[in-house]
Amino acid sequence: MKKKVAFYTLGCKLNFSETSTIARNLTDEGFVRVDFSEYADMYVINTCSVTDNADKRFKTIVKQAQKVNPDAFVAAIGCYAQLKPEDLAAVDGVDLVLGATEKFNIADYVNDLSKNDYGEVHSCEIEEADFYVGSYAIGDRTRAFLKVQDGCDYKCTYCTIPLARGISRSDSLQNVLKNAKEISEQDIKEIVLTGVNIGDYGKGEFGNKKHDHTFLDLVKALDTVEGIHRLRISSIEPNLLKNETIEFVADSNSFVPHFHIPLQSGSDEILKLMRRRYLTDLYVNRVNKIKEVMPHACIGVDVIVGFPGETEEHFLTTYNFLNELDISYLHVFTYSERDNTLAAEMEGVVPKKVRSKRSKMLRGLSVKKRRAFYEGQLGTTRTVLFESENKEGYIHGFTENYVKVKFPWDPSLSNTLQEVKLTEIAEDGLVRCTILESVRASV
Ligand code: SF4
Repeated sequence: MKKKVAFYTLGCKLNFSETSTIARNLTDEGFVRVDFSEYADMYVINTCSVTDNADKRFKTIVKQAQKVNPDAFVAAIGCYAQLKPEDLAAVDGVDLVLGATEKFNIADYVNDLSKNDYGEVHSCEIEEADFYVGSYAIGDRTRAFLKVQDGCDYKCTYCTIPLARGISRSDSLQNVLKNAKEISEQDIKEIVLTGVNIGDYGKGEFGNKKHDHTFLDLVKALDTVEGIHRLRISSIEPNLLKNETIEFVADSNSFVPHFHIPLQSGSDEILKLMRRRYLTDLYVNRVNKIKEVMPHACIGVDVIVGFPGETEEHFLTTYNFLNELDISYLHVFTYSERDNTLAAEMEGVVPKKVRSKRSKMLRGLSVKKRRAFYEGQLGTTRTVLFESENKEGYIHGFTENYVKVKFPWDPSLSNTLQEVKLTEIAEDGLVRCTILESVRASV
């Protein structure tokens, strides 16, 4: 009887791409993948160290699995498993905890799925996680997450990712192109490039510390791959987003005019405490450059509120900075202390109540920004990649510049690219459209 395995993934696109690759490996080893809500012989939880209450979330997910099959073998992998292996091993029902170097070798640890009294830990010092393993995920059959880079050499004072994922290293350009081709042959219309610090692409490509290629080389090479309709850059550090890259995207065949650029604070004083590698003037310069060559581009911004030392004045500086900037939406993160980070030792701790008040204000600003961006797109002609789910009688999709669109449900539109005219903003904030014509495969 083939063994059944189910996966639960927390966190970022990178984690989803790795879960997908690990699942493919286990399927090659004879396992059958089932949904996490179904009966399985083994449940694998891919953890995240950024998620708030990561430990509570993890325990809840383990209980969920045990409810379906109390005798199931439970394995924990991912960033939290690398940072706190013993904590996870001590959770009732956990049988195996694999660190950053072992997660891709999970097949070697699951020949015998009988339960352990205590979670068996196979972890390592993060310095040993200096090699690269490629991966991609074809989640919802509409878009794929393609991992191109892993780890980070930056030292942002609030961040645990370098401790969980190790040094910055990249896939070989050749292997990225092979994966991209493989994905496009499965009728996937959009590829989202993912990693930890993808602007640092090329570093450690061949196991050394230097850049054999740059992010721009990667972008140029991917733009020539046959059969890929859309390429989306998931997130890129402002100091690594060069003018040449912005100009190339503006004229490219496949790269879409959508940039997600972490800012974290609109106050230079706080940026210095965060040890970010830029100040606000560089950020303004990036946004202006994008809008100069792609006025319709969508710009998303990550921002952290409640960082130690953030006064009301610093916060208002951030609020006004974002309010004046021509950006499209915000992802707002409430600062929370992380073990082994410099920020956790810093003075000027902001009370939790104040953190959530500031977070609420910025989320309100994000709604205002997104609406203004959408209003600016009404009447324009865009290309929508329709997804495949019937959502209360509508099919949803995103334009190239990340406007979320809805259209009366029509299954024949699933996973197709359509040229549309954006007409009005519906009560739920999505944009209605009229379909002009189907976009034939031209690439
Ligand atoms: S750039 Fe900074 S915030 Fe981003 S992963 Fe690296 S250390 Fe963390």
